[in-house]
Amino acid sequence: MTASAPITQDLVTIPRKDEGGTGKVNLVGLTRDGLRDALIDAGTPEKQAKMRTGQLWQWIYQKGVREFSEMTNLAKDYRAMLDEAFEIRIPELVSKQVSEDGTRKYLVRIAGGHEVEVVYIPEEDRGTLCVSSQVGCTLTCSFCHTGTQKLVRNLTAGEIVGQIMMARDDLEEWVPAGKGMGESPRLVSNIVLMGMGEPLYNFDAVRDAMKIAMDGEGISLSRRRITLSTSGVVPEIARAGEEIGCMLAISFHATIDETRDKLVPINKKWNIETLLDALREYPKLSNSERITFEYVMLDGVNDSDEDARRLIKLIEGIPAKINLIPFNEWPGAPYKRSSNNRIRRFADIIYKAGYASPIRTPRGEDIMAACGQLKSETERARKSRAEIAKEAGL
Ligand code: SF4
Repeated sequence: MTASAPITQDLVTIPRKDEGGTGKVNLVGLTRDGLRDALIDAGTPEKQAKMRTGQLWQWIYQKGVREFSEMTNLAKDYRAMLDEAFEIRIPELVSKQVSEDGTRKYLVRIAGGHEVEVVYIPEEDRGTLCVSSQVGCTLTCSFCHTGTQKLVRNLTAGEIVGQIMMARDDLEEWVPAGKGMGESPRLVSNIVLMGMGEPLYNFDAVRDAMKIAMDGEGISLSRRRITLSTSGVVPEIARAGEEIGCMLAISFHATIDETRDKLVPINKKWNIETLLDALREYPKLSNSERITFEYVMLDGVNDSDEDARRLIKLIEGIPAKINLIPFNEWPGAPYKRSSNNRIRRFADIIYKAGYASPIRTPRGEDIMAACGQLKSETERARKSRAEIAKEAGL
């Protein structure tokens, strides 16, 4: 930022384009029924509404088109009517960092000028997008940087599915005109709801967004390629299985309540036993649809041989795999990562008990790809008007 710029305006409050304020209805994030109803409200004859919904759905979620004028299978006057009443708006890309290992970290801005981060992790056989469901987080897991940021608000379904659309823009992954689905490579092949926020504390928006992502006429991602990670909002777990039907991951991280109370404070509300009982009832549970237990490896906190053996005992009877996550340190973090030997030893004990225990390879460390790092930097830039004015000598 140059000294001559109107400091207060740029830095502090004025969000940009995606504030919207157009008074138009944003079609991104509406369910099929919601889109159909909106079209009828805007004057589309009821008997045409289902067909129009299908046409718009393909343009928005298969082709990635944002202007009604480009929707060539719709009559010109109908396109004009749509343009009057609606818009196709996704979160604005504020910045992008690309790591040496190909990981991309995006900071996007949503209505109200709030910002969330999104991470894309390319691998040989897949491309995983880590999306956020809240600005900040309802919870305060002590190993998680996002947990140090108060909840600002829940994201809308449009702002959640919009992250997928933003990444497809960046990766140029839309189905080109005249081409069919499946003719272009899938770069965003997997979605993990492991970004900022507790997705089950924003259930309806997350459900609608994932339903849009799974819809076979649009983004068309298989439910088995979508993983929702929860810290343990027990009352919503079965509902996630019934209404979303995607894969489930649990932010588990400890084998005794005393430790989990500190690491994942929601444990004080629903402790390990209650959580495991709920998982044994998970509607989608099967050997081909295992629950992923995420376990961050913290030096001297939860990484002993005894912890590993206790973990095996606790999850007995649950088709599961354990993802071991070497802790990603962040400025001011109260923990250290376990040593590689300790992590391997832990993984070995679990593996010998018959569970897959992959050790997650930290990705994008050179761009601080750990949860919430980018956000907090933006945060720091946001000073009060008075502070900025004082700094600028105003
Ligand atoms: S781990 Fe998840 S639920 Fe816990 S503070 Fe971080 S974002 Fe929130």
